[in-house]
Amino acid sequence: DRLISAQGGLHEEVHDRAIRPTLLNEYVGQPTVREQMEIFISAARRREEALDHVLIFGPPGLGKTTLANIIANEMGVAIKTTSGPVLEKAGDLAAMLTNLEEGDVLFIDEIHRLNAAVEEVLYPAMEDYQLDIMIGEGPAARSIKLDLPPFTLVGATTRAGLLTSPLRDRFGIVQRLEFYNTADLTHIIQRSARLSGVQIDQEGAFEIARRSRGTPRIANRLLRRVRDFAEVRHDGHITAAVSDAALNLLKVDSEGFDHMDRRLLLAMIEKFDGGPVGVESLAAAISEERGTIEDVIEPFLIQQGFMVRTPRGRMATSNAYLHFGVSPPGSAQE
Ligand code: ADP
Repeated sequence: DRLISAQGGLHEEVHDRAIRPTLLNEYVGQPTVREQMEIFISAARRREEALDHVLIFGPPGLGKTTLANIIANEMGVAIKTTSGPVLEKAGDLAAMLTNLEEGDVLFIDEIHRLNAAVEEVLYPAMEDYQLDIMIGEGPAARSIKLDLPPFTLVGATTRAGLLTSPLRDRFGIVQRLEFYNTADLTHIIQRSARLSGVQIDQEGAFEIARRSRGTPRIANRLLRRVRDFAEVRHDGHITAAVSDAALNLLKVDSEGFDHMDRRLLLAMIEKFDGGPVGVESLAAAISEERGTIEDVIEPFLIQQGFMVRTPRGRMATSNAYLHFGVSPPGSAQE
């Protein structure tokens, strides 16, 4: 398991319950998203209407699920949660929809993974709060129509480009989450430490924040591991030196890269002369799934300027060469 993978696990959810923000004003960073959502939510509340459907996209661990829960909480409604791959048949979605109360939030994570038959059922539900579904097969098949209560669909996806356009067009509100800056992550770490009774000073939090790949889930996970280190090797108090030593031991480097990041960049440099190289070839070279590279590993490396995506493939930038102390092709030293 990748220490700094942005995907959460079951074990993590237990820790998470205590520190996950439940209100918009506890949601750190993402100022544009927060300001817009504040307005849309108060307007809908004032009109006593269901909030318009919301699409949230951004890499894993940036706070999509958290935001969906905050929306329901701020609207004062219940949230029902499911995900694209779980809704296998049209009937699975119909069952969720008919269970909604007026104004409720239906949260569909990984909404880009809905199959076409299920997506078809979603269109009239989103547009007219109508359930329009075929039951039975062959000559006995018939279509039934049902009115649904007004509800809010919140969909989350790692990349907006993965959604079909008819689906994307049915969302009235689209929010894109950005990687967090170090100041925001420092704040998140200090908040989590306070809520879980961990002693950490500003510099200790900053050192973890700086090496968390711009991702709150990773920041919280590294905080837990650094805490272990601080308790076993020190007096439990997390300072910059303690964070640094713990993260070095965990093989999280000065840029916050772990072995997967390093393998990807080094494969580009050493096996493909810096690129351009197709994502499939890269995936084969490092034995990783293409989807993992595209969703989890490369967005941060691209954002930080260590690699670029060109029409001909991925390329390592001079920053990447510099990071590994390798001279770029065509540089003066060669
Ligand atoms: P996603 O659904 O995008 O994968 P999550 O919503 O599960 O991400 O967020 C991962 C963790 O990071 C959450 O458990 C939450 O505690 C923390 N988190 C995410 N966004 C924020 C934020 N804006 N402020 C504070 N903590 C956050």
